[in-house]
Amino acid sequence: MASGWYGFRRRGLPCSAGTATGLPGRLRGPARLAAAILLALYTCGFTFNNAYRSPRNSEREVRAGTSLIILHTTEAVARSALNKLSERGEAHYVVDTDGMVYRIIDHRRIAFHCGRSLWNGRAQVDDFSVGIEVVGYHNKPITAKQTINLAALIGELQSIYKIPDERVIPHSMVAYGAPNRFHPRSHRGRKRCGMQFAIWAVRQKLNLTAQPRFDPDVRARRLVNADRYLAQVLFGSTTQQDQALAKYQAVDTTVIGPGRSAWDIARDAYNSTNTVYVFPDGSKRTGKEIRDWSAIPAGTKVLLNEACADADPVESFKTIGTDGKTAADFAGEETRLATTYYIYPAGGSFSGSELSAEALAALPHGTQVLVGYKRVGPIRAGTRVYEICGAKWKAPDTYFLYPHGLLKPGSEMNEGKIPVGLYLFYKN
Ligand SMILES: [Zn+2]
Repeated sequence: MASGWYGFRRRGLPCSAGTATGLPGRLRGPARLAAAILLALYTCGFTFNNAYRSPRNSEREVRAGTSLIILHTTEAVARSALNKLSERGEAHYVVDTDGMVYRIIDHRRIAFHCGRSLWNGRAQVDDFSVGIEVVGYHNKPITAKQTINLAALIGELQSIYKIPDERVIPHSMVAYGAPNRFHPRSHRGRKRCGMQFAIWAVRQKLNLTAQPRFDPDVRARRLVNADRYLAQVLFGSTTQQDQALAKYQAVDTTVIGPGRSAWDIARDAYNSTNTVYVFPDGSKRTGKEIRDWSAIPAGTKVLLNEACADADPVESFKTIGTDGKTAADFAGEETRLATTYYIYPAGGSFSGSELSAEALAALPHGTQVLVGYKRVGPIRAGTRVYEICGAKWKAPDTYFLYPHGLLKPGSEMNEGKIPVGLYLFYKN
């Protein structure tokens, strides 16, 4: 509720996050170090809990650099979020409502927390960021205990990686979506995750005094903005933030109606098997079963799968003739880009920039389309797929193309048995 935000006041937290500031100058050597540790414990007041360490730790590579701290909201209750995040290795830390800080993935290694993402021209934000999941919702204030320990954790990470306040940002600032039925171009607005951590009053509680004032990727036209209210919350003045929050509150419903599409409600989970549409006549269908998105009647209720709300849906290829008629149905205005791929039914793949307008207009029935991907190959003998895209080679939305046209997800491949001659497609 927006009214909750006004309860936040400008009162900084005294946490020294492991630095020795505030210590009496007469202490020297080991005494000073011991005092610093005690002070850090006293002011930061938490220890890490390792009960949900991810089994994925050893397979994740160490990041080459770290320039962002990304803040998420789980959009789910603690237990289901912790289990899922640990199992899949999708965060470095989780801060529970009681303030408990769980370590999931080692902070030096890559966690898969951002999904499809871009910041200041750089894609795959996971490769250069630390991710903190805060148990809670993008539009509801977090607890006082969470605030204190989150502030301490952020301070600690900022001092380890020398990250200034303006580079501690919410997931919604860096997430973007590939073209879909509702947006013909790659767009910001795919997620509202962590939205509240852009609100000035909330940031003050977290000791963060600076933040980005515009979206660098929208400004450079790499992306379009698909949600102007979200953009106002993320980058606006306090007045603009308040207005946008009030607007969100007023339209916060899960019923489709004028000006409120399936995407507005479910975002990138709109076509997921986990999103259920209840039509006015009482009949139900999952997002995956819906073909004609323009024919959903007003009054249809959207049921979101809470446990998966911050997870990135698996992006799968679309098929001409089954999921739509033309390339534009899937790739919108990006049909001719080098990052849109067409896999012919008989095998062979071409990017949008490699095909003529005539060929694009006459794609055969059964052509598979991947939007917003990178292609590498053919894989030669001795190539390790890990060296191409790290642990993401075995993601369910990474695909291997066999010469006869079969697209197989990375999650179904066996590392020791990847045939030579295949092409690998991974999310850009
Ligand atoms: Zn998130």
